[in-house]
Amino acid sequence: MINRPKGTTDLFGEELKYWYFIEETFKKVTKLYNYREIRTPIFEATDLFLRGVGEETDIVQKQMYTFEDKGGRSLTLRPEGTAPVMRAYIENSFMKDGLPQKFSYIGPVFRYEKPQAGRMRQFYQFGVELIGSPYALADFEVIRLAIDILNTLNLHNYKLYIGNIGCKNCRPKYREALKDYYQPKLNQLCFDCQKRFNTNILRLLDCKNEKCKPFQKEAPNTFDYLCDDCRKHFDELILYLDELDINYELDGHLVRGLDYYTRTVFEIKHSSLGTQDTIIGGGRYDGLIEELGGKSTPSVGFAGGIERVVLALKNENVNVPKLPNCQVYIAVLNEKARMPAFKLSQNLRGRGLIVEIDLMKRNIRNQMKYANRLNTQYVVIIGEDEIERGVFTVRDMETGQQIEVDEKWIENYIVEKFEG
Ligand SMILES: [Zn+2]
Ligand SMILES: [Zn+2]
Repeated sequence: MINRPKGTTDLFGEELKYWYFIEETFKKVTKLYNYREIRTPIFEATDLFLRGVGEETDIVQKQMYTFEDKGGRSLTLRPEGTAPVMRAYIENSFMKDGLPQKFSYIGPVFRYEKPQAGRMRQFYQFGVELIGSPYALADFEVIRLAIDILNTLNLHNYKLYIGNIGCKNCRPKYREALKDYYQPKLNQLCFDCQKRFNTNILRLLDCKNEKCKPFQKEAPNTFDYLCDDCRKHFDELILYLDELDINYELDGHLVRGLDYYTRTVFEIKHSSLGTQDTIIGGGRYDGLIEELGGKSTPSVGFAGGIERVVLALKNENVNVPKLPNCQVYIAVLNEKARMPAFKLSQNLRGRGLIVEIDLMKRNIRNQMKYANRLNTQYVVIIGEDEIERGVFTVRDMETGQQIEVDEKWIENYIVEKFEG
């Protein structure tokens, strides 16, 4: 017996109605903003993530699925979606088509983590990247887009948090302030944070260890250390959010798990999800394209976790569209009826109906049993008698009523039943 790998799942049956709803809503809303889908490979050169995500991040240090292929290349299953899109932007010279460039993506990402609700080793993200605009206009657009997606999903119990982690000019000052603050407390922190103190001190602010949490509240606030340009960018974004009625809360300790962010960072959390409550996270990454070898180009985007949005939909009891059932089952009484059954099924499918025919050579009683299990709405019964007289029997499975319909009218008769 071979089982699926830890931290993965098989998706099937009713569960998929949530996935379809999220994927279709994401595609519908991003289309309204004129984002174009991009599909990048599942695996990339490992260097892409070392440089793009940052060598000192948890993702690169602990969570990547890295392997050598038979040609001796180091490859990594993508742990996130942004670095691959930026790699594709540079490699395909998208800049020649002018700016901004707006991309959407959806698909699996991989991180070696401790599996728990809302945290899988293979999980699915949807996301967007808006490349080329340095202005808060762009930050606002992607935040507005994220909110529109959640509203179109009929979710309500979420909250937007806005932070700003400065730029390469002002962040060093903030880092110094954090160092001064944490230095005397160092031996009271968890082991990871003692290490991060030297390598990635911003991450001390979102350590989930109970030892470290009490110190986070009093830590210096990023907003107090912004340079004039970052402050202007921040004020402009806040103006748009206020004027255009988007509710948010400021968070001067909001940092994200990836190194590439500059200025705006944001998270949308769902109140029902406990510790894994971020359903969408994003921000600005003005240095990323240059870091990956392209011409310096400011960018902003977000990614959302589909598994967590599924949990949010369930917890809020959102009514999502049902999966379709078989609409018409065509039962045959004998071998002569097979050809007319094939023909009718093909014609009805051509008219857009979901149709099954007998594939098991069952007797009529067992065909009706099967049709019942399919929850099909109508059964058409074809036998020798029917063929000779040129009429088919149609059974309404809900009422149990049967009616004979002339073969000339059968197709329209059935189609009209589904048009009401
Ligand atoms: Zn700055
Ligand atoms: Zn810690």
